[in-house]
Amino acid sequence: MYRADLHVHTTASDGLLAPSEVVEWAAKKEVDAVAITDHDSVSGIDEAIEAGRRLGVCVIPGIEFSCTYRDEEIHILGYFIDHKSRCLNDKLKELAKSRESRGLRIIEKLLESNIEISYEEVKAESKGGSVGRPHIARILVKKGIASSVEEAFRQYLVKGKLGYVDREKITVSEAADLIHGAGGVVVMAHPGIVKNQNYPKEILRYDIDGIEVIHSAHDEDTTCRYEKLASSLGMAKTAGSDCHGNMIEGKPIIGDFSIGKSDVEILVAIHKKHKKSADECTESEVNS
Ligand code: AMP
Ligand code: ZN
Ligand code: FE
Ligand code: FE
Repeated sequence: MYRADLHVHTTASDGLLAPSEVVEWAAKKEVDAVAITDHDSVSGIDEAIEAGRRLGVCVIPGIEFSCTYRDEEIHILGYFIDHKSRCLNDKLKELAKSRESRGLRIIEKLLESNIEISYEEVKAESKGGSVGRPHIARILVKKGIASSVEEAFRQYLVKGKLGYVDREKITVSEAADLIHGAGGVVVMAHPGIVKNQNYPKEILRYDIDGIEVIHSAHDEDTTCRYEKLASSLGMAKTAGSDCHGNMIEGKPIIGDFSIGKSDVEILVAIHKKHKKSADECTESEVNS
């Protein structure tokens, strides 16, 4: 049966597997299509597409933006984006810079409490990808300062703890505009893990095309609720493992949360519509 996993991270952000390794695992697990959705980054996509061609896996170029909405961080997914889009890449450069400076600030704050980790260690852990708190958490674990990544977050890296530093994030509507501008499809990620469950409905009033109904952190009831909501709003439904490369019984969870071909085809149709308007927009910019 056709399976598409539309939410996977690589070393281009905080995943543990290189883009080509993600695709190799998808092939091994007989997953037909996989979307590469790194946090605020598209730098893993070319390598994944190349591996996909070699191994017969369809690689969908994607992204996962971290956005601010009221008092929470909301994640917005983009699919079938033109990952070479100038406008998109200009914004991603800005976001990468702010991630770098936040990383430095976290290290300074930890040092103030005599917890010594260096920026070089964090950079090495991020393997050239966008720098995130999970990289700092892994260093804290490697140095024996925390017993696990979760514990490192809990003790040091979440709001209210000594190593917490906020960073520049875009709004949900900015993320939707950037994705649509790059011809992509806009999907609200894992609505079930948003703390304030009134927010998803508010957010879906923005220019959003679909809902990630099936997700590794959604239980059956949550999936059912959001499936009904997507149907009632006439929105596309997606599914994703949100795999970060951790191994369970020797395998990553790539493909364990998936949708079928007809749902992917709905996304393709939406993409074609947006691509047309994105192309017209670029043409008018060029001609003006
Ligand atoms: P950042 O984008 O650098 O602020 O890091 C956020 C990422 O860290 C999220 O997308 C998750 O992948 C991961 N994360 C957030 N909170 C936790 C937590 N409590 N335990 C483990 N990982 C977390
Ligand atoms: Zn992540
Ligand atoms: Fe997310
Ligand atoms: Fe994710």
